[in-house]
Amino acid sequence: MNDPAPPEDWRLRADIDLAALRGNVRALRRRLAPGAALMAVVKADAYGHGLLPCARAAREAGAAWIGTATPEEALALRAAGDTGRVLCWLWVPGGPWRRAVEAGVDISVSGRWALTEAVAAARAAGRPARIHLKVDTGLGRNGCPPADWPDLVAAARAAEASGAVRVTGLWSHFACADEPGHPSIAAQQRAFADALAVAARAGLDPEVRHFANSPATLTLPEAHYDLVRTGVAVYGLSPSPEVGTPEDFGLRPVMTLRARLAAVKRVPGGHGVSYGHRYVTPGETTLALVPAGYADGVPRHASGGGPVLVAGKLRMIAGRVAMDQFVVDLGGDSACVGDEAVLFGPGDRGEPTAEDWARAAGTIGYEIVTRIGPRVTRHYLGETPPAAEAAGPKGGQAR
Ligand SMILES: *Cc1c(COP(=O)(O)O)cnc(C)c1O
Repeated sequence: MNDPAPPEDWRLRADIDLAALRGNVRALRRRLAPGAALMAVVKADAYGHGLLPCARAAREAGAAWIGTATPEEALALRAAGDTGRVLCWLWVPGGPWRRAVEAGVDISVSGRWALTEAVAAARAAGRPARIHLKVDTGLGRNGCPPADWPDLVAAARAAEASGAVRVTGLWSHFACADEPGHPSIAAQQRAFADALAVAARAGLDPEVRHFANSPATLTLPEAHYDLVRTGVAVYGLSPSPEVGTPEDFGLRPVMTLRARLAAVKRVPGGHGVSYGHRYVTPGETTLALVPAGYADGVPRHASGGGPVLVAGKLRMIAGRVAMDQFVVDLGGDSACVGDEAVLFGPGDRGEPTAEDWARAAGTIGYEIVTRIGPRVTRHYLGETPPAAEAAGPKGGQAR
């Protein structure tokens, strides 16, 4: 066998290109309808890319708002010194309502129970809660049903008059914006216009009305209102192949996932590979072992079909993905232990993309990047020079 590649101190890493992220935010902002601002959605550890560095880079590129699902994510931003506008929308009774009010985080309210929590938190904190009332225009997930909307709006207006809350936002979320032309899109837009009219008649005058996620930002300028909530596009992925490719919109994938081969060996024909022997070598060949498995977010559903760049060629996983590793058949080619395997990246250096993995695993690019696990060290590239920052992670440092 060939000699090992020179030693390096990493096994499996995700390079996070913050310059690409900033470029994506700028490209998205250029597409916005006049007067609309951008919220960068950083829920779920910034879709697996790392909450704090990504939020900071998005701010640098002009994100006026940051969006999180949970209040804990929003409070983590505050603890790291982010003082800008932050909205979080996934609440349960007994959540950290008071801490969110004290931290000046905007809070989503979808029903009377949540308004009651927000009012109580505001009283305890001694300052008004900033709330965004959410209407369910058809997604069927969170949001106030239209039938209950006039009641919620009236109660919120009364709470505003009492000084307990300020209704800073009115909003909703699309179900099928990633399927351009889907009839639910127009129906949801009509329902949102109706809900805004009800709120205006009740005397609400919010700072921002917002509706658009990434696909609506890319395809429906009439849905931009005052603010768009872009998540996946900030990370350089297209919401769906139907909407377009990242290049179509001037977006560049931010994450590159790489591993170093942990074994390379010759085996005879007829050799079973990985659990269940779902792959058997067709002849004498060279197998390479990639130290990344489903614990790291490599989907087991991509067994036998996931693409990976090894020894200069695109190859497919041989047999099953295991918890920590999978095998690639190099055929007649050779490689050295320690050589690099690229699972996905922007796609312009011969490597697969997260979208290729999504297709191989029967899922969406969102899930591929978001599930990259905690054993994968993130390396941040293109961070703003430390001269501009007193403290914080430095370029190229692992998290
Ligand atoms: C996740 C999420 C977004 C961002 O969606 P993308 O398709 O990633 O842009 C926007 N709004 C809400 C309510 C979300 O949950």
